[in-house]
Amino acid sequence: MDVTQIKDMARKMAAGATEMRRFLHARPEVSWQEVETSRFIASKLEEIGFKDVKIGTDGKPVGVVADLKGKKDGPLIALRSDIDALSLTEEGDLPYKSQSGGAAHACGHDGHITMLLHTAKLLYSIKDELAGSVRFIFQPAEEKGDRSGAPAMVREGVLDGVSAIAGMHLWAHVSSGKVQWRAGPVMASVDGWKVKFTGKGGHGAMPQNAVDPTVTSANFILALQTIVSREINPLETGVISVGKLVSGDVINIIPESAEMIGNIRTFNPDVRDKMEAGFRRVADGIAATYRCGAEIEYTTLYPPVINDRALAELLRDTAVQVVGEDNVEESPMLMTSEDFSFYQKKVPGVFFFLGSGDEAKGTTVPHHSPRFNIDDDVLPTGIALMSSFACAALERR
Ligand SMILES: [Zn+2]
Ligand SMILES: [Zn+2]
Repeated sequence: MDVTQIKDMARKMAAGATEMRRFLHARPEVSWQEVETSRFIASKLEEIGFKDVKIGTDGKPVGVVADLKGKKDGPLIALRSDIDALSLTEEGDLPYKSQSGGAAHACGHDGHITMLLHTAKLLYSIKDELAGSVRFIFQPAEEKGDRSGAPAMVREGVLDGVSAIAGMHLWAHVSSGKVQWRAGPVMASVDGWKVKFTGKGGHGAMPQNAVDPTVTSANFILALQTIVSREINPLETGVISVGKLVSGDVINIIPESAEMIGNIRTFNPDVRDKMEAGFRRVADGIAATYRCGAEIEYTTLYPPVINDRALAELLRDTAVQVVGEDNVEESPMLMTSEDFSFYQKKVPGVFFFLGSGDEAKGTTVPHHSPRFNIDDDVLPTGIALMSSFACAALERR
């Protein structure tokens, strides 16, 4: 299929796409509660003509999967959109502002749903020319961390028969309409941790009769940073951050215990293991040094997003045709994470970014902040990109 033709078709969808995106923006649903969103997606797919549209993930009526069989024989590839919103109160006065208090589409997943539904519509209209099949995955709970949607869908067989998968994220940090791609590691792994140091409470004037978990915590926080600076290869990357520290609340009392939570990120699975081991050793060691007990909880969250080189290059070549050479650039590696990585552990995949940042339109506000919004004018570009990439991936041999 000719990219110019696809671009034309996508351009004609602009008004409808903007309307749908704003409709979804006003009706956000947080992770694992995307019931109405899933119903909406399924009904749109059925309107297009899709048969056997499946709703449901991990026993909940959320998440949608549908297959489009092309006329010619060929491989099955998958395109994925996440569909959840965040627990956040939207600020500002957009006419299509969130109507559900406490939830907001502050990451752009409303745009992802819109682009994938329109891609489904576009590809459906040219299905006689497709050299294989396309699976459309509308995944719940990308933002959920310790219980995200991708591993659940993978467990339930969403990748059975799939030979390649692509995912796209709207990106406020990149100018509207630009595409960022990268081969190899793109986004970091993330793990979460919790430590509780227990000492012995006492009078602030008589430390000799107490065991102080606050001083233990202070030493722990400093020692923790030496895992990155002294234990991993300086040419590798890693970050350990403390997100919260709670310890006592009175000026003259040494508390009984102190608790901290935080996260660890890196790109390399070996470094990831090393950082976890170092983390546990430092927590236990510092606790012993300062006579405290340590309770450690360590939760493995998302693996790193690592793009297949051949698919990444195919995406780049497709993007050049869709948006022009000047609008395609290599993405930096990012320390943020995405559960798209769970698909990539099973099949080769590519995850890339479509810029939606436009200062004049107020769409450069960072993701996950209460005034986040996307530039609707990039939706046709995203539709053309996904559609063209699907055709190219099916046609490659
Ligand atoms: Zn997000
Ligand atoms: Zn997101």
